[in-house]
Order: sequence, then structure tokens, then C-alpha cells
Amino acid sequence: MRSIYRVRGGCTLCAMCYYVCPTKAISLKPNVTAVIDAEKCIGCGQCADNCQAEAIVRVERKTDIH
Ligand code: SF4
Ligand code: SF4
Repeated sequence: MRSIYRVRGGCTLCAMCYYVCPTKAISLKPNVTAVIDAEKCIGCGQCADNCQAEAIVRVERKTDIH
């Protein structure tokens, strides 16, 4: 099963995930949070590893359809 990553609460819009994502799957919504495009995410985990707010979590694609 393929895993993807999602942004939950706590995002401070620091943009670190945006810069480290190799597939440009992340966009930043001003005054909201970072948003991950599930279709572009390859599940590498770089964003979660670099998020100091621990705002990014891994989810299983099967149980989380967009
Ligand atoms: S690295 Fe974390 S806190 Fe920073 S923009 Fe991404 S999700 Fe938000
Ligand atoms: S897991 Fe990798 S590909 Fe997916 S959003 Fe994070 S950095 Fe990008």
C-alpha cells in the first residue's frame, strides 16, 4: 500500500516542506497551512522529517481518499 503525507494542525507556514519536497507536491496557502497534493506525493518523508512543528503526518492512501 502506498503511503502519502498530509498536513494536520500546527503548521506555521515556515515553508521548509515546500523547499525540500522533490516532486513539488506542496503548496502554501497564505493564512491557512501547507497543502500536499496526494497525486504528486511519492511518500519520501522529507517534508515530515524537516517540519519543526511536526505538522506533517503519514497516512495510508487506502483509508484516506483525498
Ligand atoms: S514544514 Fe511544517 S510548519 Fe513548515 S510549512 Fe511545512 S507543514 Fe507547515
Ligand atoms: S512525502 Fe516527499 S513527496 Fe510527499 S509531500 Fe513530503 S516531501 Fe513531497
